Amino acid sequence: MATRPKTKKTAEPSTAKAHTPQTKFKYPLRIVPLHGAPHVAAAVTPELTYRNGPLLRNVEVFTVFWGKAWQDASNAAVVKQMNEFFDFVLTSKLIDQLSEYSVEGNTIGHGTRTGSLTLTGSEPGAKVKDAAIQKMLQSEVAAGILPAKNASSLYFVFLPPGSQVQQVGAASCTDFCGYHDATSDNVFYAAMPYPNCTGCEGGLAALDALTSTSSHELCEAITDPIPGQGWYDDANGEIGDICAWKTKKLGPYTVQLEWSNTAEACV
Ligand SMILES: [Zn+2]
Repeated sequence: MATRPKTKKTAEPSTAKAHTPQTKFKYPLRIVPLHGAPHVAAAVTPELTYRNGPLLRNVEVFTVFWGKAWQDASNAAVVKQMNEFFDFVLTSKLIDQLSEYSVEGNTIGHGTRTGSLTLTGSEPGAKVKDAAIQKMLQSEVAAGILPAKNASSLYFVFLPPGSQVQQVGAASCTDFCGYHDATSDNVFYAAMPYPNCTGCEGGLAALDALTSTSSHELCEAITDPIPGQGWYDDANGEIGDICAWKTKKLGPYTVQLEWSNTAEACV
């Protein structure tokens, strides 16, 4: 389940509400909630159902580190580590376990990281709106600074420490720790604020929090690139939402568990 408002009223159990996520975010849910956010258990076992939208069968991840701050030595180390993480995870068992969500003509398999760019031509600033992230992607692709998209493209946008991402009525580190979405012209992307706050560290080292939330959004973007049009559960959200902040070690990395319809569990 994705995030809940922190000052939440007692849940009112009713059949109608059971399928309406109680959240201030625009539907459908596709965020990583804060660690420890209130979670209302679903009345029934979660089950993702396929809504006939696109899937990213062999995802092509391009990482974008936005702002000059990523050139600072300590941040540049994170750039290197996150690119190594994607090189590892895209051909790992984490992707293999998504194969149960393959559909006819769309077999989910390993992906690749096609490149990375530290973008210094513009700055995200201390507060950056989701709309500005979308606009940056669209204009940098149009200008040829970022590679053109294809049906498998997924741009992972990392914000530097001190840059807060704002959505309508919500912000990173106070309401969420990351999300993925699609622009109106189907540029698939994930927005990853730097997890330098208690709610987004989740008791983990910053790099582990970042690989955990990145794995959450990666798996969701593959199985539900246009939120709510791929594999989705009306009561519980996407594959990673159901298992938010349940982590495991995969090789040297911390990744999040993901929901398996087959296992009826977070795996
Ligand atoms: Zn999610």
